Amino acid sequence: MQIFREIGPLRAFLIEKKGAGQSIGFVPTMGALHPGHLALIAVSRSQNPLTVCSIFVNPTQFNNVSDFEKYPRTLEKDVDMLEKAGCDVLFCPDEPEMHTRSSYLNFNFGHLETVMEGKFRPGHFNGVAQVVSKLFHIVNPDHAYFGQKDWQQFVIISTLVDELKFNVTLHSVETVRENDGLAMSSRNLRLSEKQRRQAILIPATLAEAKAKLKGGDSILSVKKFVEDTFESNPGITLEYIEVVNSKNLLPLYSVEEADRPILCMAAFVGEVRLIDNMFL
Ligand code: AMP
Repeated sequence: MQIFREIGPLRAFLIEKKGAGQSIGFVPTMGALHPGHLALIAVSRSQNPLTVCSIFVNPTQFNNVSDFEKYPRTLEKDVDMLEKAGCDVLFCPDEPEMHTRSSYLNFNFGHLETVMEGKFRPGHFNGVAQVVSKLFHIVNPDHAYFGQKDWQQFVIISTLVDELKFNVTLHSVETVRENDGLAMSSRNLRLSEKQRRQAILIPATLAEAKAKLKGGDSILSVKKFVEDTFESNPGITLEYIEVVNSKNLLPLYSVEEADRPILCMAAFVGEVRLIDNMFL
């Protein structure tokens, strides 16, 4: 695997590969890699002769300084995992390489960023859009791969690609879970053993809520069920539960209103914030 820390040499390398007709698959990450990330690499490898992964813990998308500082950084192990997964190129720039100054660029995604993650993490999607547009300009991928776990992010990046006419096809890859159902996440590394056990409540409640909706229960009653379930479990705090149209993230009053409704949730286990979702 070729490793680049600087934009210039990476660009030169990729331009040559593109010139030779190779399609580029791109997997942007913040590192602390786990099998969820590797699933994205595997899909990219199956569809492109060249797969590029980036690792950059982007400060502009953190609205909480402590979350940024405590974000796990395991570069050596990540490199090893990427080598074994057959990734071709790793781009791992330092902060000044990506952000030369406090940016003048500001994105506004309207209602897409005022619900769920956007509501509780003000400025988060502006930071995501800044870094993803920079990465897309640098890598110029033909295909880019994202996890379903961050569904709102996927909708926002799709909007970004559409608005700025990036010549890239986006792919959403199913969430990879631990055996007990917990969605794999770099932040899981920050959970104590006890918190790790408590965190199972997130996928378990989502699955139960999904079953209730499928059984005909109203969205209002299912949201109340989720809220009550979390209230009776100390150590874990629900931030939001929403049932929205997966295309435009508008809240639903009944599941019949959308072709593909999705249930989205965020919860704190101690001070670690986790998100998850399930399509209906
Ligand atoms: P992150 O490093 O958390 O920014 O994630 C990088 C990419 O990996 C994003 O597209 C995530 O949605 C995706 N991802 C994170 N966790 C998982 C998972 N458990 N399964 C599949 N994809 C994931």
